Amino acid sequence: MQMTAHAPDGCPALVLNADYRPLSYFPLSLWSWQDALKAVFLDRVEVVAEYEREVRSPSFKMKLPSVVSLKTYVRHSRSPAFTRFNVFLRDSFTCQYCGSTERDLLTFDHVVPRSKGGRTTWENIVAACSPCNLRKGGRMPREARMFPARTPARPTMFELNERGRAFPPNYLHESWRDFLYWDSELEP
Ligand SMILES: [Zn+2]
Repeated sequence: MQMTAHAPDGCPALVLNADYRPLSYFPLSLWSWQDALKAVFLDRVEVVAEYEREVRSPSFKMKLPSVVSLKTYVRHSRSPAFTRFNVFLRDSFTCQYCGSTERDLLTFDHVVPRSKGGRTTWENIVAACSPCNLRKGGRMPREARMFPARTPARPTMFELNERGRAFPPNYLHESWRDFLYWDSELEP
């Protein structure tokens, strides 16, 4: 089926799990319209909402899906990957020492410094702004009198998703809003 003739730009589809919750909040689970259509034809998803725009071929016409839901529930893995992004997300992109949320200044701190045997693990890495990181230097928290706001630990997928809900993407199509709860269910 050739459908490139009237291919629209953008028009990503929000991807919901079989329970109608987004597959992931942050980054928000979105598929390109091509991937969304492919999944529709493979019968892997149901179309929940549509854009006004359509794709056309001589024999075929279809509105682009704006929200799809998986037919099979995807279980989230229990332990998220130890990545820069996930550490930032666990710490809500907030310096764990001074509370700064300036993204440009955000880096990492070894709570127990590497020079003192501190490992690079969920339990010993926190998000910190570079001024705090410099100020603490190679000292132990007690020496520097700098303690992380939250004791660092390995988060669950659920916790990361909950954190992610506090960071709405720049663009939300109106048909997505019913499935996202950026404001209503957030902790104060
Ligand atoms: Zn700081």
